[in-house]
Amino acid sequence: MPKDFKTGLESLGNGCFAWIQHDGGWGLANSGLISDSGQSLIVDTLYDHRTTRVMLDAYRDVHSTGFDVVVNTHANGDHTYGNDLVHGARIITSRAAAEDMPDPTKRAALLRDWEAHGHYGAWVHETYAEMFDFEGIAYAGPTETFDEETTLTVGTRELRLRVLGPAHTRGDLIVYSPSDRVVYTGDLLFADAHPAIWAGPVGNWIAACDYIEGLDVDVIVPGHGALSDKTHVRAMRDYLVYVRDETRARYDAGLSEADCVAEISLENFRHWREAERIVLNVNALYHEFSGGTHKTDKDDLFRRLRAYTKACACCGGHHHGDTP
Ligand SMILES: [Zn+2]
Repeated sequence: MPKDFKTGLESLGNGCFAWIQHDGGWGLANSGLISDSGQSLIVDTLYDHRTTRVMLDAYRDVHSTGFDVVVNTHANGDHTYGNDLVHGARIITSRAAAEDMPDPTKRAALLRDWEAHGHYGAWVHETYAEMFDFEGIAYAGPTETFDEETTLTVGTRELRLRVLGPAHTRGDLIVYSPSDRVVYTGDLLFADAHPAIWAGPVGNWIAACDYIEGLDVDVIVPGHGALSDKTHVRAMRDYLVYVRDETRARYDAGLSEADCVAEISLENFRHWREAERIVLNVNALYHEFSGGTHKTDKDDLFRRLRAYTKACACCGGHHHGDTP
């Protein structure tokens, strides 16, 4: 690669496609289409009806016979809320992702009443309300689940679905097409952006990077960001190891989460988007290092996330670890 990074359909050859959303930030996820001999499989839908409709129209331009299967790479709404627009399709995900699949009507309700939900409500509002419309979306959960690994046939093609979570979320999986040398990673890969550790353990995510790097692939479709290759996977792995080690030293020294976040330099990742995710990642790591006993005040966590985001905006996202 690298390719032009803009919203649109990318042909990966031989009936394999990626729908890429610029700029890959909060809620702006990617998707995939595999079309073969009149059958098709979609990897992930998008965050709302408007964005999903635009994508499905582009998919219909290259695949005219209906969509048979949706695979959700994990449970987050920016990869699942468009499921209800793919009428009649089988919806497949891991068992853990199925258990965590969120109800979009709750997101709509939260945004109608965000001021009553403290810093969390304010963060959801300022992050998503302008760009997305969650009204009128119906929950369309999985019709089938699996553990560990399964194989799907689309036309003449064999696709391998493999669970590599818990990492970003509890149920992360990848969709690998060996014959195309393509893998759709979901949010196990953010390209040129800080990842968000919602679940962990971080060691599983590092192992997932190693697994993806070991695949025989040329093109890697990340969950967010431009079309990628293995250099992006290695960079993600480096970030996870670095943040784990930097956080561990400060956890062991007894620093508060806020002090730990303030001390960690992100200079080596200064060109990546969403530096504020360090707030979430330090929180997840403190939780992990404590064996689950570390207490988190959700309102304070999102207060600090908002503050870090605003500080980043002041310096053009070039953050150097000086959070307020
Ligand atoms: Zn995502």
